[in-house]
Amino acid sequence: MLVNSGLRDKNLPSVAVGVITLDVPKVRSKMTDARIVVVGSCMIDLSCFAERIPKPGETIIGDSFNIGHGGKGANQAVAASKLGANVTFIARLGDDYFGKEYLKSFEDVKIDTKFIKLIEGQPSGVAQITVSKCGENQIVIIPGANNFLKKEDVSAASDIIKSAKVVVCQLETDVDLVTESAKILKQTSENGLLILNAAPAKSDLPDEVLKCCDILCVNETEATAILNEELITVADAEKAVSKLIKKGCKAVIVTLGSQGAVYGDQKSAGTIHAPSQKVDAVDTTGAGDSFIGALAFYLANKPELPMLEILKRSCAIAAISVQKKGTQASFPFKNELDPKFF
Ligand code: ATP
Repeated sequence: MLVNSGLRDKNLPSVAVGVITLDVPKVRSKMTDARIVVVGSCMIDLSCFAERIPKPGETIIGDSFNIGHGGKGANQAVAASKLGANVTFIARLGDDYFGKEYLKSFEDVKIDTKFIKLIEGQPSGVAQITVSKCGENQIVIIPGANNFLKKEDVSAASDIIKSAKVVVCQLETDVDLVTESAKILKQTSENGLLILNAAPAKSDLPDEVLKCCDILCVNETEATAILNEELITVADAEKAVSKLIKKGCKAVIVTLGSQGAVYGDQKSAGTIHAPSQKVDAVDTTGAGDSFIGALAFYLANKPELPMLEILKRSCAIAAISVQKKGTQASFPFKNELDPKFF
């Protein structure tokens, strides 16, 4: 078995609303030498807030503007690093203002940036977002430098990947990066785990990709895209986990927003369900990335924990993130959490 899937339920650390304070010093030590490698995307969200979405050819005056750091790869790397994990991030940025600023922000949270390169003459990945007062949005994504992250770049980092306890991939970058990471991990007997967060949703994901990861982690939409059937309830998610295992996945997690997460694997009968804490969510953007960052953190640093406990703690950390605005800014630092989380 890849991870301990025992059903034993230890005391879950309490998730007190108000554990987070905005001015907690952002200094903390790394927990152990257990390494997590994240392979993935960096995006800069340029958000304009206006009364309405402009018509084609029209210029309107908006109300406010915000620059946010995103990209699933970056979010997951930051989420794990803020918890105290040793994280190496393999990514590409443009050699523009945004790229240089983003690189510095990774250094600020102590991510190893040796394998992040600034691509000359290319823009960093950006999402240009307009949000209207009634909540409609219009988004243009320019992947930019993210398109320059190739499987050769993953091969060039093979030594660090082989030394990793956990490697995390998503689908905002080339799907070849997933199979290449898996191939490198299998060259060693270190038993590193590959987590594939199959996001954004992709309906034509080859079975080869589903089979090469150790844990497939998807939300309802992503599971629906792969299985071509709608998922709403925990019971639906349990069935989806079983179907994905039949398709060849070794282990599967389906996250269900406020309903928590369901896990199953090839070696154990049935599934386990970790419910979410009931919280007042103010911004759920990036909840999935917070969950994956925490999952990677626990699998690397606390592999002895039963899977149910790992799921519960990851859900609890994601529940903290949804109580704060922003994406990376909402992920908790280790020193903002109850010591029972560790
Ligand atoms: P996103 O795309 O916004 O990053 P996602 O759709 O990939 O998120 P979700 O399934 O919505 O991921 O959420 C991931 C985890 O975050 C859930 O399993 C749950 O633990 C936690 N979570 C999300 N929303 C809530 C909520 N409203 N209340 C409590 N926990 C939540």
